Amino acid sequence: MDLHPIELLSNESPDALVVMTAIGKIVHWSHGAQTIFGYGRDEATGRLLADLVVPTGGAPEQGRMLGETLVLGGATYESVRRRKDGSLLYVDVTTKRLQRDGWEEPLVLATEKDVTHIKVLRDAKLMEARFRDLLESTPDGIVMANPTGHVVIANSQAEKLFGYEPGELRGKSVDLLLPERYRRAHVTHRSNYFLQPRKRAMGSGLDLAGLRKDGTEFPIEISLSPLRTEESAFVMSAIRDISERKRFERALQEKNDELASANQAKDRFLASMSHELRTPLNAIIGFTGTLLMRLPGPLNDEQGKQLRTVQTSARHLLALINDLLDVAKIEAGKVDLEIEPIDGKAVIEEVAATLRPQAEGKGLELIVDLPEPPSLLHTDRRALSQIVINLTGNAIKFTESGSIRLTLRQEGGAGVTRISVADTGIGIPVEDQSKLFGAFSRVTSSRPRAPEGTGLGLHLSQKLAMLLGGHIAFVSESGKGSTFTLTLPGE
Ligand code: ADP
Repeated sequence: MDLHPIELLSNESPDALVVMTAIGKIVHWSHGAQTIFGYGRDEATGRLLADLVVPTGGAPEQGRMLGETLVLGGATYESVRRRKDGSLLYVDVTTKRLQRDGWEEPLVLATEKDVTHIKVLRDAKLMEARFRDLLESTPDGIVMANPTGHVVIANSQAEKLFGYEPGELRGKSVDLLLPERYRRAHVTHRSNYFLQPRKRAMGSGLDLAGLRKDGTEFPIEISLSPLRTEESAFVMSAIRDISERKRFERALQEKNDELASANQAKDRFLASMSHELRTPLNAIIGFTGTLLMRLPGPLNDEQGKQLRTVQTSARHLLALINDLLDVAKIEAGKVDLEIEPIDGKAVIEEVAATLRPQAEGKGLELIVDLPEPPSLLHTDRRALSQIVINLTGNAIKFTESGSIRLTLRQEGGAGVTRISVADTGIGIPVEDQSKLFGAFSRVTSSRPRAPEGTGLGLHLSQKLAMLLGGHIAFVSESGKGSTFTLTLPGE
């Protein structure tokens, strides 16, 4: 035996023996210290103990204990340390001031004993006695861990969730329950969590996974809450397996994607078909027109009548296609709006001028009621004009006698603008009112001989109004008339 007893002690003691200067700089780092903290002698010597193994937030305590040792000659305390790999452990520390004649300043000897396991078991007993019944009664898996990240207690739901035998998780590191890739981040999270513990609700974190004992993973949701007892601080995690929900969400997402692409395909189809349909239709309308004008030669009455039917139907079809094309464009987000300052009055006057012959042809009065000053609006002229034409066209179509009144009102300056089209027509039965803005919705119930239409006009107008940031509303009474009002936002 040629080892000096002191050397033997330093080499063989399972506890960490550390000698440091009065400011905590390490001058001796025993074998036990290397094993417990993971730093080699060369890595540790010359470093401050507080920098090396004291976790964030623990420096003041370390400073205090060093001071106490220097003043009183020694100290005994329990503390938390951080290993080189980031994991935390509990230590029982005993310190002693070393002073020799001829030394410039005293040194400090510290013995640090790893008591993590003992402490976990002690805490586990206490916590079991206090909380076991409560924890067993909750449906979620519950794991309570101490600040070093060791499981103090896990309820049977948690054990089942992760595939462990009863009691098997006690004293284990909670890292075991996480896939490898999360562990590093988790260690940091955990130390930070104890510095600033707060409640964190289920699902407020990232997408997390749990690791079963057999190595398989499953998606989890965790909520954390701090729990302070006289002995220590703990963190309670409620863990829920969300595999089922994730599967459901994925299926839903896939369905959504499918629907979105089907919808896009429909819009593309509509846009291109509408275009393809218009070309031959224009030929039909054009040639029917020349035939009716008798340019190629005379027609008898019956031929004239039948050609007029062809013409009416073809025009109807063209209107339908035009509307469809517009709807498809809006739904595909392909409408280019040109928002510019325009005079709202001018738009209404134009529409009135265009449709007046149609109204007067039916013996209806078309009244235009506009304020004196020009009405400045920031909007798309074409879209606005299309809406007013649609509303006024409908009013004329569904009114047999009386008048159509176009009104524009603006709230002071360039505030909210309201454009109304009021008629004295047949009105809309209450039961049909709610579906009026839907595509292809036409009131047919009380109207065996409804004027022709596509049922797209109002749908389209409402969509355009929304694109302009406004909306269309109406009031109507069967047999008395209807008033449709377009509201556009101010600046
Ligand atoms: P269309 O007029 O081409 O049928 P719209 O979408 O413009 O399509 O109108 C849908 C339905 O709403 C019409 O068929 C009609 O029944 C009803 N409607 C619209 N405007 C009026 C109105 N001013 N008076 C009475 N009914 C109306």
